[in-house]
Amino acid sequence: MREKFCYSCCSLFEKIDENVKLWDCSDQAAIRSYLCDEEDGVASVAAEGRGRGIEEVRDPAGSADNSLPAPQAPPHQAQSSAAGSRGRRGPKMCAYCHEKRAMLKRPKTKECVCKECFYLAFEEEIHETIIHEKLFHRGDKVAIGASGGKDSTVLIHVLKALNERYDYGIELFLLSVDEGIKGYRDDSLETVSRNEQQYEIPLKVVSYKDLYGYTMDEIVAQIGLKNNCTFCGVFRRQALDRGAVLLEANKIVTGHNADDIAETVFLNVLRGDFPRLTRCTNSITGEGGPLPRCKPFKYTYEKEIVMYAFHKKLDYFATECIYSPQAYRGVAREFIKDVELVEPVCILNTIISGDEMKLGNELKPLQVQGECTKCGYITSQKVCKACKLLEGLNLRRASGRM
Ligand code: SF4
Repeated sequence: MREKFCYSCCSLFEKIDENVKLWDCSDQAAIRSYLCDEEDGVASVAAEGRGRGIEEVRDPAGSADNSLPAPQAPPHQAQSSAAGSRGRRGPKMCAYCHEKRAMLKRPKTKECVCKECFYLAFEEEIHETIIHEKLFHRGDKVAIGASGGKDSTVLIHVLKALNERYDYGIELFLLSVDEGIKGYRDDSLETVSRNEQQYEIPLKVVSYKDLYGYTMDEIVAQIGLKNNCTFCGVFRRQALDRGAVLLEANKIVTGHNADDIAETVFLNVLRGDFPRLTRCTNSITGEGGPLPRCKPFKYTYEKEIVMYAFHKKLDYFATECIYSPQAYRGVAREFIKDVELVEPVCILNTIISGDEMKLGNELKPLQVQGECTKCGYITSQKVCKACKLLEGLNLRRASGRM
């Protein structure tokens, strides 16, 4: 399978001048091709190319639907299958319910499970994160950063379901940023518009052109492709803040997943950036400020997000930005993916390590959020980075160096 990268959410990270590479295995035809004939019914993505470890359990009877109850198996056989025995023909049973045929192998735990149990486990683990990390309070107005991609689409779907199932009492909004990139963002925004209808959640779109006077297409025409993502990332971060203010939201949630966070931990280690290292695993940033940002997918594996989106047939957009560069972050991403193939728990362990480092650093003062003296939006500096970058753009425009 061809490896693709998407940078569409990069700015939401702590290190906004670098980019998050989102491994995109969401191509549906490619996922289907992972079903194959193997003795124990497990088809592995690893069969193709370097492999990325998404596996599906093939139904030996050839049925595409696992909603049918499996044939009665003697208890000892079901137990043996659930324990993951290999090398024998016959249906593998779900490790959770022991009643239905296993159809998927969870990338996070390597357990073979039926689709229904996978959906439930996936959603419940996110619920646990929300509760344990106290991400929401009753009455919160929550703006979901919606790019149309798989992470934010799954986030919308799951948050809506959990809000109803557990009565969080929160109000949800969709918030999209239009960077002004023809052939990319205009298409993905169509997906978000459909999401607005599908989930019946109000959508607000804010654009760089309206907020800053430039589209990304215009910025790239001016500065080239070298630092385009620095501009885009800084502007997007503030654009989300501004959009959330317009929605009167008091929280922003983003679809950053465990893989993204583990990569950021490694990047900050490689850079020796200890202050960021101690913050990057936080499930809430900007706490105490006017607009905290939450990451309900802190412990959610990217491969499981892809599986969930694919099997739930969610409507999402899977094309990379036309300006996506080859970034330093890709090295960390490759490393995480390779280690994950050997031992999936390494992703969680990396996040836990980041958390532990934070505990060791708790006496250091946190960055204090204030207001930019120029534009008045949230920043930890006197003048925010968006204003500094805009100043440079305006100077170039005034001097005719466009
Ligand atoms: Fe992401 Fe494209 Fe913006 Fe770069 S230019 S940050 S790749 S959307």
